Amino acid sequence: MNIAPMRLDRAYQLHQAQYEAACLRVLRSGRYVLGEELSAFEAEFAAYIGSPYAVGLGTGLDALWIAFRLLGIGAGDEVIVQANAYIACVMGITINNATPVFVEPDEYYNMDTEKIEAAITDKTKAILAVHLYGQASDMETILAVAQKHNLSVVEDCAQSHGAKQGERMMGTFGNVGCFSMYPSKMLGAFGEAGAIVTDAETLAGDFRVFRNYGSEKRYYNKMIGTNSRLDELQAALLRVRLLHLDELIAERERLCARYRDEITNAHIILPKIRPGCSSVWHQFVVRSEERERLIEHLAAKGVGSIIHYPVPPHLSEAYAYLGLRRGSFPLAEAYADTVLSLPLYNGMTEAEQTYTIEVINDYNP
Ligand SMILES: *Cc1c(COP(=O)(O)O)cnc(C)c1O
Repeated sequence: MNIAPMRLDRAYQLHQAQYEAACLRVLRSGRYVLGEELSAFEAEFAAYIGSPYAVGLGTGLDALWIAFRLLGIGAGDEVIVQANAYIACVMGITINNATPVFVEPDEYYNMDTEKIEAAITDKTKAILAVHLYGQASDMETILAVAQKHNLSVVEDCAQSHGAKQGERMMGTFGNVGCFSMYPSKMLGAFGEAGAIVTDAETLAGDFRVFRNYGSEKRYYNKMIGTNSRLDELQAALLRVRLLHLDELIAERERLCARYRDEITNAHIILPKIRPGCSSVWHQFVVRSEERERLIEHLAAKGVGSIIHYPVPPHLSEAYAYLGLRRGSFPLAEAYADTVLSLPLYNGMTEAEQTYTIEVINDYNP
C-alpha cells in the first residue's frame, strides 16, 4: 500500500458538489475581486472564531507582516517568537525591519511562557505566539506577561483554525489573530488566501484599506498599502470549507486518537496536549532519535512522512545575519533534528491508517 503524507484531493471529494457549485456561482456572477463572497466569508469567519471583525487577505504571510506594520512595529523594535516556529512567522517580523528575539518552545511545541520575561528588553514591542501543528498556546499566560510589560500580542493561527484554550478560540486573545488558508491548512482554500481577526474596529478598517493599495475610495489613497485581496473564488470555496470545519476537525481528532492509542513503539515519542487547551491536529508530529532510519523504514513500506521543520529559523541561511549559532536554542534544535509528521489528511481511510500504524509499530532501529 502507498500512503501519501498528505492528500488534498480527499477533502475536496468529501464535499465535491458544494465546491463546484460555489465556483460556478462566482464564475457566472461577473464579480471576481472584493465582492459579496468576500464580505460573506468575512462575516461567517468572524462569527466562527468569535471575533467581531475578520478581514480577508492574499496570504498568511501578508496577515503577519501587515499586522506588525499596522501595529507600528518596525526598525529598531524587537518581537518575541518561539525558536521552533515556521520561517514565515519570522519573515512577518523581518519584512518590517524589526528584529526577532527567540525563546525556546515547551513540550507542546509552543512558546515556553516561562522564558518570555527573560527575553524582554526596552526594545520589545510585541509577542508573536505561533500555535504550531494545530495546538493552542497558553494564551492566558502570554496575555498576562504582555499586559504587565505593555506589549502587543499577535497570534499566528495559520495551523490552528478552531483550536481553543478553555472555550475561547485562538485568534481572539491577541491584538490580531493571523490566519493562512493555504490549501494544506485546516481551513484550506484551493489557492492562496489569508485573513486576520481583531476586536479593534479601527484596526480592522486599516487592514481593509491597506490590502487595497491604501485606498478606501477608489483611486484616492490615504496610505501606502499593498495588494493583498482574497479573491471571490477562494472566498466562495472557503465558505463551503468553513461550513464543514467542525466535522473536519472531529475527523482529525478521531484519526489522531487512534494514532495515540495504537502506536506502541517505544522508539517513538507521541505528541502531548496541554491541559485546558485543544489541538485541531494540523499535523501529527512524533519524535524519534534515529529519525533518518525511521523515514527509510517507512518509505521502504510505502509510507510517506514530512519533517516540519528541518532547520530552525535562527540557523537558516536567510537569518545568518542575526549571528545565532547552533547551541543558541538547544531544545528547538533538538526538535528540528527529531520531529516527524506522520500521514494525516481528511478522508484518510481506516485501512490506510491501519497499515500506517502496523508499519510504524514494526520499526526497530
Ligand atoms: C502557512 C503558515 C504561514 C504562512 O502562510 P502562507 O499563506 O503560506 O503565506 C505562517 N505561519 C505558519 C505557522 C504557517 O503554517
